[in-house]
Amino acid sequence: MPEKNGLVNPFVLSDDDGYMWLKGNLHSHSTNSDGRVSPQERVDGYVNQGYDYLCVSDHNNITFVETLTCPENFTLIQGAELHPDNPFGGDRHHFVALNISEDMDARAMPPQHVIDEVKKQGGSIWLAHPHWSGINILRDTMPLTGLAGIEVFNTTCRCAGRGESSVHWDDWMDLSGQLLPALGNDDSHAAESEARDTYQGWTMVRVKERSPVIRQRVHKFLIFSCIAGKVARLRSR
Ligand SMILES: [Zn+2]
Ligand SMILES: [Zn+2]
Repeated sequence: MPEKNGLVNPFVLSDDDGYMWLKGNLHSHSTNSDGRVSPQERVDGYVNQGYDYLCVSDHNNITFVETLTCPENFTLIQGAELHPDNPFGGDRHHFVALNISEDMDARAMPPQHVIDEVKKQGGSIWLAHPHWSGINILRDTMPLTGLAGIEVFNTTCRCAGRGESSVHWDDWMDLSGQLLPALGNDDSHAAESEARDTYQGWTMVRVKERSPVIRQRVHKFLIFSCIAGKVARLRSR
């Protein structure tokens, strides 16, 4: 399988070899933090909307997947949104941590320690909505090592006019000289009935099995995100 910087171009993988596309949202909130619906209601909503996978990524606390139920062909990814301080001058960080098993007091930890701890637990950690957060890639991100990639679209931040972070994505790839995978997420807080920040962002992954392979591959495959049905961007160079 041809890899570039450890990433695989999903468009070269064939259906004939058993690959399929799965659609998911890796950033959502529930009443375990500042979301408006229970964790189970959040899961049920994405199941009913035809998504294939979801992470209920509440602020600072893991929502453990064994407390949730879903159909067999749906994959729950365990994670949280973590908020270490930003020692480089910007606002407090927003990192989405996937596949972690133990809570940590990220608010009291430097960002590099949080990244290291997530990786030690076997997880991956992503820079969330840098446009909304006022992140300067050169100042706030380049001093860090080990981030998996960037959230390039965020539905709830779009409500504040700062939903797209494609310039941050470009800057980061230019400065670091590497390809970076990108996520499109809802960061859903509202109830479905409010029609504000649900079911408008997603990330497609190319996998052979729904679970548990998807958990490992989500940061392995070159990912692209779709916004309201249009491909945001797939950059290869
Ligand atoms: Zn956030
Ligand atoms: Zn969030």
